[in-house]
Amino acid sequence: MKIGVLGAGVVGLTTAWRLSEAGHDVVLIDRAAGPAAGASGANGAQLSYRYVAPMASPKMLFQLPGLLLPGENAIKVSFTPELVGWGLRFLTACTGAQVARTTAAQLALAELSRLELEHLLGKVPLDFGLRTAGKLVIFRKAADFAAATPGEDEAAELLGPDECRALEPGLTLKTSEFYGGLYTPSEQVGDCTAFCEQLFVKLKESNRVEVRMNTAIGRPVVRNGRMTGIETDHGPVEADLFVLSLGSGARAFAKSCGFNLPIYPVKGHSITVADDVASPLKHSVTDYSRKIVYAPLPGATRIAGFADFQGYDTTPVPSRIAQLKEAAADTFDIAAQGEVEPWAGLRPMTPDSKPVIGPSPLDGLFLNTGQGMLGWTLACGSARLTADLIDGKPPACPSEPFDVRRFQ
Ligand SMILES: Cc1cc2nc3c(=O)[nH]c(=O)nc-3n(C[C@H](O)[C@H](O)[C@H](O)COP(=O)(O)OP(=O)(O)OC[C@H]3O[C@@H](n4cnc5c(N)ncnc54)[C@H](O)[C@@H]3O)c2cc1C
Repeated sequence: MKIGVLGAGVVGLTTAWRLSEAGHDVVLIDRAAGPAAGASGANGAQLSYRYVAPMASPKMLFQLPGLLLPGENAIKVSFTPELVGWGLRFLTACTGAQVARTTAAQLALAELSRLELEHLLGKVPLDFGLRTAGKLVIFRKAADFAAATPGEDEAAELLGPDECRALEPGLTLKTSEFYGGLYTPSEQVGDCTAFCEQLFVKLKESNRVEVRMNTAIGRPVVRNGRMTGIETDHGPVEADLFVLSLGSGARAFAKSCGFNLPIYPVKGHSITVADDVASPLKHSVTDYSRKIVYAPLPGATRIAGFADFQGYDTTPVPSRIAQLKEAAADTFDIAAQGEVEPWAGLRPMTPDSKPVIGPSPLDGLFLNTGQGMLGWTLACGSARLTADLIDGKPPACPSEPFDVRRFQ
């Protein structure tokens, strides 16, 4: 089959690779000049296979009123008409039962992703700083620490402040500033941009993959109720099937196909600090209260965070960059004054924090998008699930939780 993959972020790239592996001819299309031009750029770099905490949760319900007030909160919300319907669905997902279902579905997809990344690297060795660094989540509030649980991961453990500092000597927080941490030794880190750039090169070399960059995707071409092509600024592209992996652009494309896809852009920021001015971390660290993650990469430390519901603008906001620098300075003594690369990206977020993977309401269009906070972690598993479903094979992990019909 000839399959058009729409979007060359980490989700589109891994999907293109998986489909070509399965014997399909692929045409990969993106408006950017190169890969990872959207959210897959300088993200938090955490491959978080065991810690998939959904954003929609009962706790979030209590925090919401405060988040709507002005100020430099970790999460900021500005209401737009697009956010209203999304927000109502988000509220209905904030139940304990839904969180349990989402967590189970995400953990299964994450485990598949871990295996699929290994499989991919067995076929195409890539060098992107992949490392089983372990992850330490630190809690600044007593209630958050009390609620933290190692879950079913036998190797995960709760640590007091002294143990956290012994594990991660770069941590400069005093005992009075935090209550402890949850350490999961099996979690990994890796540079998503480097992964995407190298996989992109391999795809271009493949005789099964045609790459069309600098190509803006417009409306679908529909004949007799089936999508047979897309309009682009370089003319139409035809294929037997299309996979929608446009990240935050997926909602607009779905609308032009005649159905609603509740994906909202949730803006995050990052800074990358070169190691000559940063104290390299031993592990990846998540500051749970501030919603900031720290990841050690080859030659640099990545510091990323915040969740701003403020539309589609991708320009880094100076006050957010300043907050990340301050956090780096007071949590790890990372002097982020020298060589710092600021960045911002839009997480394609569904209201229930799960991706949308499966057939769409439009015949000829398949969905693999909406990975939200965990797109780097879930990309390889989502690609495998997509290929399994397209080929009519038994899915390698339960696919029903990701079906778009939950929103129709
Ligand atoms: C600050 C931050 C930190 C993060 N940290 C982590 C982390 O530590 N771990 C983790 O697992 N995930 C993390 N994420 C989430 C992860 O980065 C995303 O979920 C993931 O990159 C989404 O990938 P994607 O391919 O779906 O979307 P994107 O990377 O946004 O790709 C979509 C592509 O579609 C293209 N496109 C859109 N519209 C059109 C159009 N009309 N025509 C042509 N092309 C179009 C864009 O150019 C883009 O290349 C983070 C995200 C952010 C912002």
